[in-house]
Amino acid sequence: MSLSTSSPRTESARRTGQGSVLTKDGLKVWLGRLLESHRVIAPAVEDGVLFFQPVSRPQDVVLEGKTAISPKGWVHPQTEVLFRVERRDGATALESPEEPPQQVLFGVRPCDARGIKHIDKVMLAEPSDGLYARRRERTALVGLACSQAWPECFCTSLGLAPDDASDVDVMLTLAGDIFLARAVTEKGKALLELAPLEDAPAGEPAVAQLAKFPTDGLAPAMKANFDSKYWAAVADRCIHCNICTFVCADCYCFDVRDAHVGGTVERLRCWDSCQAYGFTRIAGGYERRATKGERMRQRFAHKLLYYPEQFGEPLCTGCGRCVVACPVNIDIREIIQDVLKMGVKSATARAE
Ligand code: SF4
Ligand code: SF4
Repeated sequence: MSLSTSSPRTESARRTGQGSVLTKDGLKVWLGRLLESHRVIAPAVEDGVLFFQPVSRPQDVVLEGKTAISPKGWVHPQTEVLFRVERRDGATALESPEEPPQQVLFGVRPCDARGIKHIDKVMLAEPSDGLYARRRERTALVGLACSQAWPECFCTSLGLAPDDASDVDVMLTLAGDIFLARAVTEKGKALLELAPLEDAPAGEPAVAQLAKFPTDGLAPAMKANFDSKYWAAVADRCIHCNICTFVCADCYCFDVRDAHVGGTVERLRCWDSCQAYGFTRIAGGYERRATKGERMRQRFAHKLLYYPEQFGEPLCTGCGRCVVACPVNIDIREIIQDVLKMGVKSATARAE
């Protein structure tokens, strides 16, 4: 799906944004127009690895492959300044951070778009996080349906689909050698006004097929097995690298720190990980989850029990990145199936 493929076609006047066709050349033209008015964040290769990053040329966008990290950092940055304090003319001055730019996240997979939706539910719940809300308001998502699945993908087991357009503003689907382009929201319709849409014949939409495994009854099984020795056994091999939470499409936990920069103090919000010792340390040095088993259980209980209780769905989109990244092969798909196997009855029986 390289954007360098060239096959000249005539631009048509059709720009309804109601479901139309973009050639690969047309896609490049659209990206060029978006770049004139937006910061465009898209998959591009850096040091041989595919990352979402700002692009300045359409030809740098790579729409095949899967990025090593989800694009969540462009709405919930790894580190960001919440405010600055400095002494000026004998007085203390408080400075707000720069306003976020208008940006388009381009080529976002349905699992990653759902991950951002999951973070929205937390950060935009009243009282909403003002900085996050302003960045989200200025962000549009151009989605890309998955035409292939990777071995670690399991989105369909968690109720998603490789062409799920629920969480994006525009959806692109590869069909033969063109893209079907559909505006999903008003924001998306405005973006598609800039696209050289055509009435061209399209092939069959290419949508990945994935096998599903059952996940019904997961939350009750998680609850029933809360005190199981299973968590300590799984955690035994964890080396606290935290990479599972940093690559995750859904994990959003953060810490707040102050840093001296010259004569200024910056209050920073930085990603944090529930797998790290110190994550729950409170005043006086008490560590709420001192053992690896408690921290491992927390990661999965948050994803498969607490978040579903609060918001009705798991805090996992089946992107599989933690499966690939974990250096000791702790695999959330196996955890889900183990917990389901342990079930509710066996835990009740053990307690009796
Ligand atoms: S598969 Fe792993 S990395 Fe992906 S959303 Fe689920 S927990 Fe996060
Ligand atoms: S990636 Fe694996 S080893 Fe690293 S913190 Fe997560 S579970 Fe532990």
